Amino acid sequence: MSQQVYKLIIIGAAPAGLTAAIYAARARLAPLVVSGPKPGGQLMGTTAIENWPGNISILGPELMANMRQHAAQFGTQFLDETITKVDFLQRPFTLWTNHNTILKADSVIIATGANSRTLDCPGEQAYWGKGVTTCAVCDGAFYVNVPVVIIGGGDTSMESALFMLKFTDNITIVQNLGQLTASKIMQERVLSNPKIKIIYHSLVTKIMGDNQHVTSLEILDQNTQITQTLETKAVFTAIGFLPNTKIFADQIKLDQWGYISTTTEINTNIPGIFAAGDAVDFKYRQAITAAGSGCMAALAAERYLSALE
Ligand SMILES: Cc1cc2nc3c(=O)[nH]c(=O)nc-3n(C[C@H](O)[C@H](O)[C@H](O)COP(=O)(O)OP(=O)(O)OC[C@H]3O[C@@H](n4cnc5c(N)ncnc54)[C@H](O)[C@@H]3O)c2cc1C
Repeated sequence: MSQQVYKLIIIGAAPAGLTAAIYAARARLAPLVVSGPKPGGQLMGTTAIENWPGNISILGPELMANMRQHAAQFGTQFLDETITKVDFLQRPFTLWTNHNTILKADSVIIATGANSRTLDCPGEQAYWGKGVTTCAVCDGAFYVNVPVVIIGGGDTSMESALFMLKFTDNITIVQNLGQLTASKIMQERVLSNPKIKIIYHSLVTKIMGDNQHVTSLEILDQNTQITQTLETKAVFTAIGFLPNTKIFADQIKLDQWGYISTTTEINTNIPGIFAAGDAVDFKYRQAITAAGSGCMAALAAERYLSALE
């Protein structure tokens, strides 16, 4: 018996993948979504989302459950397994899962997202989404006139600090090195602002709270070996992102940081393989931009499949 060849397989079940699925299902492409290790994606680890249009405030997990139900309602199938290997060099494309399922498809949308680098210190996981976050644009408005701490010395950290000036005058950056690593202009903007304090040579050793929310964090000065406690309501980690693209490294073009290179926003270097969301986007990293590119990828896949017929 010959194996089923899906018109479209979508890898990832978060804003990008689920939006792609809604569009593809409504276009009668009968897509299969492979959900991977984190169905719902990054928003499963957060609380209120206040920048999803149409919902003044909605919990991340609720938004993702709605999206999944929306995609299922129009005929999307789901496979709660993880893709471990792909062959995009021969057609139809072949994908293998961690449960040894072999899948074939005429087109694929990669929407595997990214993970932020973690501090790996006690308290980080316990207070993830309860004061520990990675996204100042997303969560900054929750911290008005309270002390906040930003970890890291690169551009994301500088951007976060400057963004937080809209809400509070009490901003501390903790950097592990003796200098900042951000671009000169961003450094200048931060260094010239008296409301932003910088502590160098220091590592976060513990994040503490009252079981509901972060209240403080402990840092260690690597030169003096002295620890100090900083009172804070929010810890914004800005120490980098890791796109989930390792399994595609020998198949499609990635940039030097591992993000998928696209020729236009969503076309990879292989016709029929599209990419969307945080696996491509190192700049905006928002649910709405991920969803927008998921939509574009589905429309592009539909056009590609029509041209094949
Ligand atoms: C703490 C926090 C708070 C945030 N708050 C907001 C906010 O308020 N507003 C906002 O707009 N954005 C917010 N963001 C950003 C937003 O979550 C991301 O931009 C968005 O989730 C990216 O969506 P995505 O679909 O590209 O991927 P992700 O959400 O990263 O999901 C990736 C998906 O791919 C799957 N996957 C990965 N590898 C595989 C594989 N090998 N096989 C199969 N599937 C795989 C995963 O299981 C997951 O389903 C926040 C992020 C964080 C971390």
